[in-house]
Amino acid sequence: MVGQVQVLGAGECGLTLAHCLVRGGSSVTLVTDRDAEAILAGTVTSTQVKFPRTLDLESDAGLGFWRTSAPNIEGIRFTMAVDRTAVATWAGRLPRPAQSVDQRTVFARWLSEFLAAGGDLRVADPSVTDVDRAAADYDLTVVTRASRELAACFEDDPAWTVPAAPQRRLAVLYLDGVQPDPHHLGTYTALPEHGEVISYPGLTGRPGQERRCEITLFEARPGGALDVFDQHGTPAQRLRQAKQLIDEHLPAELAERYRGAELTDAGATLVGAVAPAMRRPVGTLPSGSPVLGGGDVVCRMDPGGAQGANNAVHCAIRYAEAILHTPDGRYDRDWMEWAAAPWLTAVAHPAARWTATVLDPPPAMQELMLAAQHDSTLADAFAATFARPSSMAQFAAAAPS
Ligand SMILES: Cc1cc2nc3c(=O)[nH]c(=O)nc-3n(C[C@H](O)[C@H](O)[C@H](O)COP(=O)(O)OP(=O)(O)OC[C@H]3O[C@@H](n4cnc5c(N)ncnc54)[C@H](O)[C@@H]3O)c2cc1C
Repeated sequence: MVGQVQVLGAGECGLTLAHCLVRGGSSVTLVTDRDAEAILAGTVTSTQVKFPRTLDLESDAGLGFWRTSAPNIEGIRFTMAVDRTAVATWAGRLPRPAQSVDQRTVFARWLSEFLAAGGDLRVADPSVTDVDRAAADYDLTVVTRASRELAACFEDDPAWTVPAAPQRRLAVLYLDGVQPDPHHLGTYTALPEHGEVISYPGLTGRPGQERRCEITLFEARPGGALDVFDQHGTPAQRLRQAKQLIDEHLPAELAERYRGAELTDAGATLVGAVAPAMRRPVGTLPSGSPVLGGGDVVCRMDPGGAQGANNAVHCAIRYAEAILHTPDGRYDRDWMEWAAAPWLTAVAHPAARWTATVLDPPPAMQELMLAAQHDSTLADAFAATFARPSSMAQFAAAAPS
């Protein structure tokens, strides 16, 4: 008999895990701060491009509701631009398309599916003391929300050095009225010294009323020309600033696509920064009870590598397999280390390495990015590495000798 499991946080990791466990016949309590209506009434939380292996996992878990309706992102159109002039440009195709669906849409739908499948949902924002007390009632507690207090129960992983501060300041806009890329590619525009502008088609809207949009992410190097967005700015101000940056920095043919851009809804913007973290996967509550961490709690990365949501879903699937294959329900500290190891080694650590490399490419990588202009195999290999960061070595190997 699989034990009673409590999952804290209903995002990419928590919802996927809770759903798989309920489907596997386990008794699950999911604790999160917002119900579906509150999520839909809120602001966007990510740009969440997911690569085919992640989409396959979701489909296999019965969660791939948008596979045929979400626009395909067939690859990456890379441009390095200086003073609105493209100094390097190439297009790399993904082996299979990626997709992006607004997390508000996804989490709201997945929450209702979880309830329909008989899951127990508690809407609450428990303190660490509350979590500790409740953990005694469960065989296993999995933490997938990284509030500062709870995250502090997980030690930093001493094997990793992560930057002390966010490497980019972020602004996200979900837009209507953007002309689609003619080849269904996502665009990745690097502006040396300033950061990147990343944009691709996605789906947004209430479940059942989804519609296509463009999802645009500004990755501003602190102090650079893209670093203009104010945490307290209004959505209208952010749209104005975004359009101005696009006009001032992107090559004209790219900027032209945004001429008619409007926000999709009142919650269509997000401004902030992600401080990277790499923690040990097993935390300790004040009482001494161990808890298993998943997703961003353990491995949090800047969005520039497009890895966090993918990583969180892979984590959930591996944890669900481990839990459902442990019939005696004994989830002690050693078991938790065992359950986390495959995900960390195969997915999280390569994703973190790739993200660090892409945000601050070493000279050899910069040369590869330029060489890709004249070598479509290299361009495709670069695109494929986003989808499978553990293949980074193959990317380097694809370089011309
Ligand atoms: C701007 C931006 C763009 C991104 N783009 C990409 C991308 O293109 N591709 C990609 O793979 N990743 C991307 N990411 C990263 C990705 O969104 C995260 O890594 C992923 O959502 C992490 O999943 P998670 O389950 O760990 O946490 P989350 O998905 O954040 O879920 C945590 C959940 O916990 C709940 N919660 C939070 N606080 C509390 C509380 N106090 N009490 C109870 N519940 C609480 C929240 O409601 C939330 O649902 C991006 C992130 C950002 C910020």
